[in-house]
Amino acid sequence: DIPTPRRYQVVFDEARIDPDVQKVVRRLVRHGFQAYLVGGCVRDLLLDRRPKDFDVATSARPEEVRELFRNSRIIGRRFRLVHVLFQGGKVIEVATFRRNPKEDSDDGSELLIRSDNAFGVAHEDALRRDFRINALFYDVEARQILDWVGGMEDVRRQVVHTIGDPETRFREDPIRILRALKFAGRLGFAITPDVYDAVVYCRDALALAARPRLSEEILRLLRGGQARRTIYLAWETGVLDVLLPEVSALLYDDRGDDGPGQRLWRVLDYVDRRTAADRPLDDTVLWTLLLLEPMKEACDGVRDRAAAVADFLEPLIDRLAISRRYADGMRRIVAVLPRLAGGRAGRFARTDIFQPALDVLAAELTARGESTEAIDRLRSAPHPRRQHADAAQFRR
Ligand code: ATP
Ligand code: MG
Repeated sequence: DIPTPRRYQVVFDEARIDPDVQKVVRRLVRHGFQAYLVGGCVRDLLLDRRPKDFDVATSARPEEVRELFRNSRIIGRRFRLVHVLFQGGKVIEVATFRRNPKEDSDDGSELLIRSDNAFGVAHEDALRRDFRINALFYDVEARQILDWVGGMEDVRRQVVHTIGDPETRFREDPIRILRALKFAGRLGFAITPDVYDAVVYCRDALALAARPRLSEEILRLLRGGQARRTIYLAWETGVLDVLLPEVSALLYDDRGDDGPGQRLWRVLDYVDRRTAADRPLDDTVLWTLLLLEPMKEACDGVRDRAAAVADFLEPLIDRLAISRRYADGMRRIVAVLPRLAGGRAGRFARTDIFQPALDVLAAELTARGESTEAIDRLRSAPHPRRQHADAAQFRR
């Protein structure tokens, strides 16, 4: 009684699928294994978007995959995957089909998934995934999509829906709450009402998620090209109250067009414009921009801005495992902002966070509708050391 998938004949332009991935899949199939493209890449191919990477799922065990590809290695202790290495440092991830480990546990009281390494068959691998749009398999040889979950219908209707009951799936892994917002925001999809309600209802479970995963997912919300829409969704659903109450408080406290809330929306617009222009901001800058307004408030009337920011960040570092490196950068950037805004960089121009700080300033000035001319000057200002040399030239 193995469920049969719906099959859809689709012909993607071959050029859109990485040739090395095709080689990997074909080699596995030639050796008698099942192998498919899976997950985000199939979804993105259907949506005419460029996939970030191509993942392969197969019936072959990690050792068997390892044996088929000379240039490969098994990675991961909990879920063992094979990385197949190609020219230029390209890595293709090949994962053995897995199933949801909860299916065979009879103790329903504890939903949170802690380990995730039970091998399974193809349809189980589809069912363990988070959203229906993320569970489509593509058979490269037959040029068919295999759909066990109704993912094609969701792609067509442009909706994000969990596979199975949303509350159960969110309790199993609360990070999926953020992933729902990420995909809805980034793809411009709707969240179906039952899933939306479950997001609202389960949001407190986010406090149980592994903290490094939380901070990484927050960055992904910002990097997706629709940071404004996505953070708005997080705010509207109350998810932001759980993750970053410092930020959501200020969004409630709407002081008209010039308030900090409105400035945050415009800063996020700036972030999205940079993503669209293929000039993405680095992670320190993204964190700084997300937290800029509350950090500035923390600095109000304080002499030691760096210390005020450090104090402000302490509980956040704890809650979200923001890395010390980012926190340190944020502290230094916010401390120097007023000086930079005044057009003076001085020795700061030689530090590693000068360019990130200019990005922050550019976002802020843009959000306030002010000219960014000062930044262009600072950016093109000669390196301080060279400035000395040039000065000597002009000395009379
Ligand atoms: P992106 O374009 O952001 O990479 P993606 O859909 O490829 O989107 P990944 O985070 O790369 O997302 O994960 C790959 C696939 O693994 C997903 O498409 C989904 O099928 C599955 N997956 C990822 N995270 C989870 C999770 N928390 N629970 C269940 N399945 C997941
Ligand atoms: Mg991916």
